[in-house]
Amino acid sequence: MVTVYAASRRPAPTSWPVSQEEWRLLARCKSVPAEVFYPPDREKPRARREREALAKQICRTCPVQDPCRRFAVGTQEPHGVWGGTTPQDRRHLAGGAVHRDDA
Ligand code: SF4
Repeated sequence: MVTVYAASRRPAPTSWPVSQEEWRLLARCKSVPAEVFYPPDREKPRARREREALAKQICRTCPVQDPCRRFAVGTQEPHGVWGGTTPQDRRHLAGGAVHRDDA
């Protein structure tokens, strides 16, 4: 069980695009334990689905979800949930090869 602490409710920037430094300052996940967004070693499929669902739920309330997702797709970030996407989601978005993480 992972405890999610109260997250910042800072408003979204009024002008876009924001710089990388700026969107990271507004990240809702700043006050959430990293293990919500990154898998432990040998994570079982059910635990992964539950963890990723929780991370995606947090991302949906984040004011900088779009720049975060663009950054993660653009840099081919291979680990964790970023911008409401898993590594597999990002590979699909980038048009890359399909790879199953939960095999
Ligand atoms: S979209 Fe998700 S991973 Fe990205 S900054 Fe916001 S809470 Fe963090």
